[in-house]
Amino acid sequence: MTNQDQFQHAGKLVSRQLYLIIVLFVVITTLLLGLDRFQAQILDSVRVYVAAEGYWSKGQKDAIYNLVRYASSHDESALNAFHDGIAVSLGDRQARLALQAKPVNIKLAREGFLRGRNHINDVDKMIWLFRNFGGYGDMKKAIAIWTEGDKHIDELLGLEQELEQLIHSGKADKDRIHAILLRVDAMNERVTELENRFSATLGNAARKIKQLTSLLILSSTVFLLLIGILLSRRIVKSIRGTQVALIESEARFRHVVESNIAGIMFWQRDGAITDANDALLEIIGYSRQDLRHGKINWQTITPEESQAVDARAMDEIHRQGFCTPYEKEYLRKDGQRVSVYVSAASFEATRDRGVCFVIDISEKKRAEQAQKLAATVFHSAKEAIMVTDHSAAIQVVNPAFTQISGYEAAEVMGKNPNILSSGEHEPAFFGAMWQSLQESGSWKGEIWNKRKNGELYQALLSISAIYDDNHNVTRYVAIFSDITEQRRLEDQLKQSQKMEAIGTLVGGIAHDFNNTLAAIQGNLYLAQKYNQGNEAVSTKLDVIDQLGKHSAKIIQQLLTFARKGNVQMAPISLNTLFAGLERLTRSFIPENIAFDIKTSDQPLTVKGDMTQLQQIMLNLFNNAVDAVADKAQPQVECRLEAMSADDLFMREHPWLESNQLAHIHVHDNGCGIPEENLQHIFEPFFTTKEVGKGTGLGMAMVYGSIQTHHGAIDIESKPDEGTSIHLYLSRVQTQADKVPETTSKEHKLHNTRSVLLVDDYINVRDTYAEALASMGYQVITANDGLDALACFEQHGDNIDIVVSDIVMPKMSGFHAVERMRMQRPELPVIFMTGYDPQTNVPGNLRANSQMLSKPFSIVELAEQIQQMLNPGNAES
Ligand code: ADP
Ligand code: MG
Repeated sequence: MTNQDQFQHAGKLVSRQLYLIIVLFVVITTLLLGLDRFQAQILDSVRVYVAAEGYWSKGQKDAIYNLVRYASSHDESALNAFHDGIAVSLGDRQARLALQAKPVNIKLAREGFLRGRNHINDVDKMIWLFRNFGGYGDMKKAIAIWTEGDKHIDELLGLEQELEQLIHSGKADKDRIHAILLRVDAMNERVTELENRFSATLGNAARKIKQLTSLLILSSTVFLLLIGILLSRRIVKSIRGTQVALIESEARFRHVVESNIAGIMFWQRDGAITDANDALLEIIGYSRQDLRHGKINWQTITPEESQAVDARAMDEIHRQGFCTPYEKEYLRKDGQRVSVYVSAASFEATRDRGVCFVIDISEKKRAEQAQKLAATVFHSAKEAIMVTDHSAAIQVVNPAFTQISGYEAAEVMGKNPNILSSGEHEPAFFGAMWQSLQESGSWKGEIWNKRKNGELYQALLSISAIYDDNHNVTRYVAIFSDITEQRRLEDQLKQSQKMEAIGTLVGGIAHDFNNTLAAIQGNLYLAQKYNQGNEAVSTKLDVIDQLGKHSAKIIQQLLTFARKGNVQMAPISLNTLFAGLERLTRSFIPENIAFDIKTSDQPLTVKGDMTQLQQIMLNLFNNAVDAVADKAQPQVECRLEAMSADDLFMREHPWLESNQLAHIHVHDNGCGIPEENLQHIFEPFFTTKEVGKGTGLGMAMVYGSIQTHHGAIDIESKPDEGTSIHLYLSRVQTQADKVPETTSKEHKLHNTRSVLLVDDYINVRDTYAEALASMGYQVITANDGLDALACFEQHGDNIDIVVSDIVMPKMSGFHAVERMRMQRPELPVIFMTGYDPQTNVPGNLRANSQMLSKPFSIVELAEQIQQMLNPGNAES
């Protein structure tokens, strides 16, 4: 039973008892009144009978008196008076007989009593008493006495008859009359005695009745009093019990409110909070003073997002008096939000006021969110996460685990992580791992694992033990990522850094060597010129020339490798390149090799240097031919095709300028390249060929040149099966220029023009000066930019052309020419570079200028000068 029910029950009980008391009071009071009235009526009726007895007695006495008078006087009037007196008794007798008759004759009774001289008002009382009590006790006795009296009246009437007859007969003697009067007298005495008895009996009855009714009234009063006291006591007790229960209930409720186990507020529908406990104030961050001043309104401290749920709850309260607990937020006084769990109920039928319990669940929410976040991290981590129990049975894995290992979560549940094992590691490796886990609770390192499909991958693995309070291991958490690709890229980077370093070194050496070679070649040219007719010297000089040319080739390749060769980047058609390849290769590819070259149907244009691209192809063919030398069915294939690279490819080759690529693929079925050599084949002078056969510069040149072309190179090779070399070059939209024809040109020797020759390298300068002079040019030399400017100041207009090195101390070639062009904007210039092909002639100097890459022959220089000075005569 709830408190509410208890109070209702107690209330009902009290009101029922009160009602009972009132009913009882009314009943008993009515009873008392009734008794009182009854007593009064009975006594009154008894009084009336006593009075009637008086009339009766008086009538009888009158009758006797008049009879005695008649006896002596014989007066008829006395006789009449006798009859008048006796009529009272006769009337009463008539009434008695009418009341005793069956059926009772009330009318006759009433006439009788009136004749008995009773007052008209008393007649009904007499009839009532006679009829109701005539058969009982004293009344019965009294009636019997009355009946006996009536007998005497008959006797008296008989005596009167006797006397009347006696008198009327005239034989009236004294004695006889006397005898009659004596009988009358005797009878009178008896009647008097009867009257006395009648009165006494009635008096006795009245007394008894009075006593009885008084007793009744008294006992009723006492009874009422007792009942009243008893019921009142019960009611008081019951009320006191209810009161105690109410007080207890109130105390319990107060205790609940003040215990602050939950925030409690007393709300009104209009938003007012009439009271609240400390816990609630704490939750919403307001003070008791704020509450007292009515500053807190549950509607205004509810943020907009929670208003819908509040409305729903109020609706529910309206319908059923309470609401299902729900979550919402409050805005604290400091502006922060607090998540709470609330439930509310209303107090009365109007549902406008009630109590609300509020529990702060911010902490729980935060924990939930943290948990959610942890789960999200677990699920979306790119690293594989694997949790095992203390015995290393897998309990849970994340999606990245499946992605990396290839195993679904269900497949590995309960299994040992050694299903991932690649078999690449010695038992000692795992021994050390377990030892570290036991000693320090963690292990970190790289490990080779095996995917479900059998593929090996390198993983960076970190394992941590998780302990319980007693420092027993409960779980292991292993986190690993697939670093195969990363390691590959790192290796790639390392390789390219190595190549870069080698390039710098080689480039430096080649540059210096190139200058020396230029000087040697110049001197050689002069020596041959000055040598007239000496056959032996001429032969030697030819040999030196051959050796020089060979060296120049090597230097050229080294410079290409170091990306310091002279490149003429222009849109070129690879289809054209391929068309020319057959002719180029025909001379050196042996007949027994099945050589297949296929160009693309699609026009493929790249930005490149035709000479270098041809050189690349020749180098690759050379290697292929060498590789298949010992094969029974040697094959070399070459393909050109269009390709659009996917994102992965573009990520791996970020320097590619477009994903629309030209793909050149050279394949042979030769000896292949052993794994350990793969990383070295691009290094200059790396060769596996016997001395004299290989220089080790071919692949270096290919590498450098492809880099210059911002292209990519990939090698696939399996020892004994063959090698595939893939080249990728970004395509450009423009139509490829025609492949420049390689033509040999003859130089012409005639001139009187003057040349300003600038080079800080004295050997080069002097050699070229001498050679040019020998061709008839006026040569002015300068050894750096500043010096050149000084010469220009001096000779000014006489200078027809400037031939200048670029990189020089004090002032660069570009700078010097820029200054000269300020005076002579049209001044023709040939720049010589032995060093940096990336250096293009600056835009402002490009007109009327050319670039020659060292080493170049004197003849080439002469041709260039010729062309620039007489553009009209230039041969194409
Ligand atoms: P060289 O050909 O002078 O040895 P390269 O730079 O052209 O120098 O090549 C370097 C090395 O690379 C070769 O010695 C050879 O071992 C290897 N190589 C290059 N291409 C192939 C190929 N197609 N097949 C087998 N080995 C090759
Ligand atoms: Mg080679």
